[in-house]
Amino acid sequence: MTTRTPLMAGNWKMNLNHLEAIAHVQKLAFALADKDYDAVEVAVLPPFVDLRSVQTLVDGDKLKIKYGAQDVSAHDSGAYTGEISGSMLAKLKCTYVAVGHSERRQYHNESDELCNAKVKAAYRHGITPILCVGEGLDVRKAGQQVPHTLAQVEGGLKDLPAEQAESIVIAYEPVWAIGTGEVATPEDAQEVCGAIRTRLAELYSQELADKVRIQYGGSVKSGNIAAIMAQPDVDGALVGGAALDAEEFVKIVRFRD
Ligand code: PEP
Repeated sequence: MTTRTPLMAGNWKMNLNHLEAIAHVQKLAFALADKDYDAVEVAVLPPFVDLRSVQTLVDGDKLKIKYGAQDVSAHDSGAYTGEISGSMLAKLKCTYVAVGHSERRQYHNESDELCNAKVKAAYRHGITPILCVGEGLDVRKAGQQVPHTLAQVEGGLKDLPAEQAESIVIAYEPVWAIGTGEVATPEDAQEVCGAIRTRLAELYSQELADKVRIQYGGSVKSGNIAAIMAQPDVDGALVGGAALDAEEFVKIVRFRD
Protein backbone atom coordinates (compact mmCIF):
# COMPACT_ATOMS: atom_id res chain seq x y z
CA MET A 1 0.00 0.00 0.00
CA THR A 2 1.49 3.34 -1.08
CA THR A 3 1.59 6.16 1.44
CA ARG A 4 0.08 9.28 -0.02
CA THR A 5 1.10 12.66 1.42
CA PRO A 6 -2.11 14.62 2.06
CA LEU A 7 -2.47 17.81 0.04
CA MET A 8 -4.31 20.74 1.59
CA ALA A 9 -4.90 23.34 -1.11
CA GLY A 10 -6.54 26.71 -0.59
CA ASN A 11 -8.61 27.91 -3.54
CA TRP A 12 -8.86 31.64 -3.04
CA LYS A 13 -11.25 32.07 -5.96
CA MET A 14 -11.57 35.79 -6.91
CA ASN A 15 -10.40 37.08 -3.53
CA LEU A 16 -7.26 38.77 -2.12
CA ASN A 17 -5.30 41.28 -4.22
CA HIS A 18 -1.53 40.92 -4.52
CA LEU A 19 -0.83 42.89 -1.34
CA GLU A 20 -3.36 40.88 0.62
CA ALA A 21 -1.88 37.74 -0.90
CA ILE A 22 1.58 38.59 0.44
CA ALA A 23 0.23 39.28 3.93
CA HIS A 24 -1.80 36.07 3.85
CA VAL A 25 1.09 33.82 2.74
CA GLN A 26 3.35 35.45 5.35
CA LYS A 27 0.79 34.56 8.03
CA LEU A 28 0.62 30.98 6.80
CA ALA A 29 4.40 30.68 6.68
CA PHE A 30 4.76 32.11 10.19
CA ALA A 31 2.08 29.85 11.64
CA LEU A 32 3.53 26.75 10.02
CA ALA A 33 7.22 27.53 10.57
CA ASP A 34 7.41 26.20 14.12
CA LYS A 35 5.97 22.91 13.03
CA ASP A 36 7.33 20.07 11.01
CA TYR A 37 4.51 20.04 8.48
CA ASP A 38 6.28 17.85 5.94
CA ALA A 39 3.64 15.22 6.56
CA VAL A 40 1.09 17.49 4.90
CA GLU A 41 1.70 19.36 1.66
CA VAL A 42 0.29 22.88 1.66
CA ALA A 43 -0.63 24.80 -1.48
CA VAL A 44 -2.42 28.02 -2.29
CA LEU A 45 -4.23 28.78 -5.54
CA PRO A 46 -4.39 32.60 -5.78
CA PRO A 47 -5.83 34.65 -8.65
CA PHE A 48 -3.44 34.92 -11.62
CA VAL A 49 -2.42 38.49 -10.79
CA ASP A 50 -1.12 37.43 -7.35
CA LEU A 51 1.10 34.62 -8.59
CA ARG A 52 4.24 36.69 -9.15
CA SER A 53 4.03 38.15 -5.65
CA VAL A 54 3.51 34.73 -4.10
CA GLN A 55 6.39 33.32 -6.14
CA THR A 56 8.74 36.07 -4.95
CA LEU A 57 7.81 35.42 -1.34
CA VAL A 58 8.06 31.65 -1.58
CA ASP A 59 11.41 31.77 -3.46
CA GLY A 60 12.90 34.52 -1.31
CA ASP A 61 12.04 32.96 2.03
CA LYS A 62 12.41 29.37 0.82
CA LEU A 63 8.91 28.60 2.05
CA LYS A 64 7.63 25.07 1.76
CA ILE A 65 4.24 26.38 0.66
CA LYS A 66 3.44 25.46 -2.93
CA TYR A 67 1.26 27.49 -5.20
CA GLY A 68 -0.63 27.25 -8.42
CA ALA A 69 -3.37 28.76 -10.53
CA GLN A 70 -7.12 28.30 -10.61
CA ASP A 71 -7.32 27.70 -14.36
CA VAL A 72 -5.17 27.27 -17.46
CA SER A 73 -5.82 27.69 -21.17
CA ALA A 74 -6.03 24.58 -23.31
CA HIS A 75 -3.82 26.48 -25.81
CA ASP A 76 -0.11 27.17 -25.47
CA SER A 77 -0.04 30.64 -27.08
CA GLY A 78 -1.76 32.79 -29.67
CA ALA A 79 -4.87 34.87 -30.20
CA TYR A 80 -6.83 33.85 -27.10
CA THR A 81 -7.58 37.15 -25.39
CA GLY A 82 -7.78 36.90 -21.63
CA GLU A 83 -6.35 33.39 -21.45
CA ILE A 84 -3.26 32.33 -19.49
CA SER A 85 -1.11 29.52 -20.84
CA GLY A 86 0.61 26.64 -19.13
CA SER A 87 4.00 27.97 -20.22
CA MET A 88 3.26 31.29 -18.46
CA LEU A 89 2.33 29.41 -15.29
CA ALA A 90 5.42 27.24 -15.58
CA LYS A 91 7.58 30.36 -15.89
CA LEU A 92 6.14 31.47 -12.53
CA LYS A 93 7.04 28.02 -11.16
CA CYS A 94 3.48 27.01 -10.43
CA THR A 95 3.29 23.46 -9.09
CA TYR A 96 -0.46 23.01 -9.48
CA VAL A 97 -3.39 24.22 -11.51
CA ALA A 98 -7.05 23.57 -10.81
CA VAL A 99 -8.95 22.30 -13.83
CA GLY A 100 -12.72 22.07 -14.19
CA HIS A 101 -13.71 23.68 -10.90
CA SER A 102 -17.51 23.53 -10.70
CA GLU A 103 -17.68 27.33 -10.90
CA ARG A 104 -15.89 27.18 -14.24
CA ARG A 105 -18.07 24.31 -15.42
CA GLN A 106 -21.17 26.23 -14.34
CA TYR A 107 -20.39 29.85 -15.29
CA HIS A 108 -18.05 29.25 -18.22
CA ASN A 109 -19.67 26.12 -19.63
CA GLU A 110 -16.49 24.06 -19.35
CA SER A 111 -17.07 20.56 -20.69
CA ASP A 112 -15.22 17.35 -19.86
CA GLU A 113 -13.62 17.63 -23.30
CA LEU A 114 -12.24 21.09 -22.52
CA CYS A 115 -11.10 19.93 -19.07
CA ASN A 116 -9.27 17.06 -20.74
CA ALA A 117 -7.51 19.51 -23.07
CA LYS A 118 -6.56 21.68 -20.06
CA VAL A 119 -5.23 18.66 -18.13
CA LYS A 120 -3.01 17.85 -21.12
CA ALA A 121 -1.94 21.49 -21.48
CA ALA A 122 -0.88 21.53 -17.82
CA TYR A 123 1.21 18.37 -18.27
CA ARG A 124 2.84 19.76 -21.43
CA HIS A 125 4.37 22.40 -19.15
CA GLY A 126 5.18 20.22 -16.16
CA ILE A 127 2.32 21.47 -14.00
CA THR A 128 0.23 19.05 -11.96
CA PRO A 129 -3.50 19.41 -12.57
CA ILE A 130 -6.02 19.24 -9.75
CA LEU A 131 -9.00 17.91 -11.70
CA CYS A 132 -12.23 18.93 -9.99
CA VAL A 133 -15.26 16.69 -10.31
CA GLY A 134 -18.54 16.25 -8.45
CA GLU A 135 -22.29 16.16 -8.76
CA GLY A 136 -24.97 18.80 -8.38
CA LEU A 137 -27.89 18.49 -5.98
CA ASP A 138 -30.29 17.05 -8.56
CA VAL A 139 -27.85 14.25 -9.37
CA ARG A 140 -27.26 13.56 -5.68
CA LYS A 141 -31.01 13.42 -5.03
CA ALA A 142 -31.35 10.92 -7.85
CA GLY A 143 -28.61 8.79 -6.24
CA GLN A 144 -26.42 9.11 -9.35
CA GLN A 145 -23.39 10.75 -7.72
CA VAL A 146 -21.01 7.87 -8.42
CA PRO A 147 -21.69 7.32 -12.16
CA HIS A 148 -21.90 11.08 -12.74
CA THR A 149 -18.57 11.78 -11.07
CA LEU A 150 -16.83 8.79 -12.67
CA ALA A 151 -17.92 10.02 -16.11
CA GLN A 152 -16.25 13.37 -15.34
CA VAL A 153 -13.08 11.57 -14.22
CA GLU A 154 -12.98 9.48 -17.39
CA GLY A 155 -13.66 12.53 -19.55
CA GLY A 156 -10.94 14.53 -17.85
CA LEU A 157 -8.37 11.75 -18.14
CA LYS A 158 -9.20 10.64 -21.69
CA ASP A 159 -6.09 9.38 -23.51
CA LEU A 160 -3.84 10.55 -20.70
CA PRO A 161 -0.78 8.29 -20.44
CA ALA A 162 -0.12 6.51 -17.16
CA GLU A 163 3.18 8.42 -16.65
CA GLN A 164 1.08 11.59 -16.35
CA ALA A 165 -2.06 10.17 -14.74
CA GLU A 166 -0.07 8.78 -11.81
CA SER A 167 0.70 12.28 -10.54
CA ILE A 168 -2.71 13.87 -11.07
CA VAL A 169 -4.71 15.13 -8.11
CA ILE A 170 -8.46 14.62 -8.28
CA ALA A 171 -10.70 16.82 -6.13
CA TYR A 172 -14.12 15.37 -5.44
CA GLU A 173 -16.29 18.40 -4.79
CA PRO A 174 -20.02 17.82 -4.58
CA VAL A 175 -21.42 21.07 -5.99
CA TRP A 176 -24.17 21.24 -3.35
CA ALA A 177 -21.47 21.40 -0.66
CA ILE A 178 -19.36 24.18 -2.21
CA GLY A 179 -19.69 27.45 -0.36
CA THR A 180 -22.99 26.36 1.18
CA GLY A 181 -21.85 25.34 4.64
CA GLU A 182 -23.41 21.95 3.91
CA VAL A 183 -20.49 19.54 4.13
CA ALA A 184 -20.76 15.99 2.82
CA THR A 185 -20.66 13.35 5.52
CA PRO A 186 -17.35 11.50 5.75
CA GLU A 187 -19.20 8.45 4.39
CA ASP A 188 -20.51 10.43 1.40
CA ALA A 189 -16.96 11.61 0.67
CA GLN A 190 -15.55 8.10 1.02
CA GLU A 191 -18.22 6.56 -1.22
CA VAL A 192 -17.25 8.70 -4.20
CA CYS A 193 -13.50 8.98 -3.50
CA GLY A 194 -13.33 5.19 -3.14
CA ALA A 195 -15.22 4.73 -6.41
CA ILE A 196 -12.81 7.12 -8.15
CA ARG A 197 -9.84 5.06 -6.96
CA THR A 198 -11.46 1.83 -8.11
CA ARG A 199 -12.10 3.36 -11.53
CA LEU A 200 -8.47 4.54 -11.77
CA ALA A 201 -7.38 0.97 -11.09
CA GLU A 202 -9.67 -0.24 -13.90
CA LEU A 203 -8.47 2.45 -16.31
CA TYR A 204 -4.78 2.10 -15.46
CA SER A 205 -3.59 -0.23 -12.69
CA GLN A 206 -4.01 -0.73 -8.96
CA GLU A 207 -0.46 0.50 -8.46
CA LEU A 208 -1.27 3.78 -10.21
CA ALA A 209 -4.60 4.14 -8.39
CA ASP A 210 -2.81 3.75 -5.06
CA LYS A 211 -0.51 6.66 -5.92
CA VAL A 212 -3.13 9.21 -6.96
CA ARG A 213 -4.24 11.73 -4.36
CA ILE A 214 -7.98 12.28 -4.14
CA GLN A 215 -9.11 15.35 -2.24
CA TYR A 216 -12.50 16.19 -0.83
CA GLY A 217 -13.80 19.74 -1.25
CA GLY A 218 -16.98 21.43 -0.08
CA SER A 219 -17.39 23.51 3.08
CA VAL A 220 -14.29 22.05 4.72
CA LYS A 221 -13.50 23.68 8.07
CA SER A 222 -11.23 22.97 11.01
CA GLY A 223 -14.19 21.39 12.80
CA ASN A 224 -14.98 18.77 10.14
CA ILE A 225 -11.63 18.04 8.47
CA ALA A 226 -10.39 15.32 10.84
CA ALA A 227 -13.43 13.08 10.28
CA ILE A 228 -13.16 13.52 6.51
CA MET A 229 -9.42 12.82 6.54
CA ALA A 230 -10.05 9.62 8.53
CA GLN A 231 -11.58 8.09 5.40
CA PRO A 232 -9.20 5.71 3.62
CA ASP A 233 -9.55 7.21 0.15
CA VAL A 234 -9.47 10.90 1.10
CA ASP A 235 -5.97 12.34 0.73
CA GLY A 236 -6.48 15.99 1.47
CA ALA A 237 -8.86 18.84 0.85
CA LEU A 238 -9.53 21.61 -1.62
CA VAL A 239 -10.64 24.45 0.63
CA GLY A 240 -12.46 27.55 -0.57
CA GLY A 241 -13.99 29.96 1.93
CA ALA A 242 -12.08 28.68 4.95
CA ALA A 243 -8.76 29.14 3.11
CA LEU A 244 -9.24 32.92 3.13
CA ASP A 245 -8.81 32.96 6.90
CA ALA A 246 -5.14 32.15 7.50
CA GLU A 247 -5.71 30.96 11.07
CA GLU A 248 -8.53 28.65 10.03
CA PHE A 249 -6.56 27.27 7.07
CA VAL A 250 -3.62 26.54 9.35
CA LYS A 251 -5.94 24.61 11.68
CA ILE A 252 -7.13 22.58 8.68
CA VAL A 253 -3.52 21.86 7.68
CA ARG A 254 -2.81 20.76 11.25
CA PHE A 255 -5.85 18.52 11.38
CA ARG A 256 -3.82 15.85 13.14
CA ASP A 257 -2.99 18.10 16.14
C1 PEP B 1 -13.92 25.28 -3.54
O1 PEP B 1 -13.99 26.42 -3.95
O2 PEP B 1 -13.28 24.43 -4.17
C2 PEP B 1 -14.59 24.95 -2.28
C3 PEP B 1 -14.57 23.71 -1.88
O3 PEP B 1 -15.21 25.99 -1.61
P1 PEP B 1 -15.75 25.95 -0.09
O4 PEP B 1 -14.67 25.33 0.75
O5 PEP B 1 -16.00 27.39 0.25
O6 PEP B 1 -17.00 25.12 -0.08
